[in-house]
Amino acid sequence: MICTQCGSEMVQTDKNTMTGRVIREYECRNCGHSDWEDDGVALWQVLHDAYEKEEDKSSASPAPTHPDVHPPEPLASRSLWHRFCRIFRNS
Ligand SMILES: [Zn+2]
Repeated sequence: MICTQCGSEMVQTDKNTMTGRVIREYECRNCGHSDWEDDGVALWQVLHDAYEKEEDKSSASPAPTHPDVHPPEPLASRSLWHRFCRIFRNS
């Protein structure tokens, strides 16, 4: 990177990927001017995005239907059972 102040070659002093982008910091050894450049998306951010996309795919698929533990007993069968019992009680 060339210093915008004096035109000298700048030295990279830091590399920051905390924001999800690679930010390279430069310092001019000639005049002390410091600058930075955006070097694109950081690798971990790319991986993170790819992972999130996978997550979206799996959550978009239909959720498994919650199995009914105890389906409500139909009234008809219950009354049939009562009628059945009554027959035996009467005999
Ligand atoms: Zn400079």
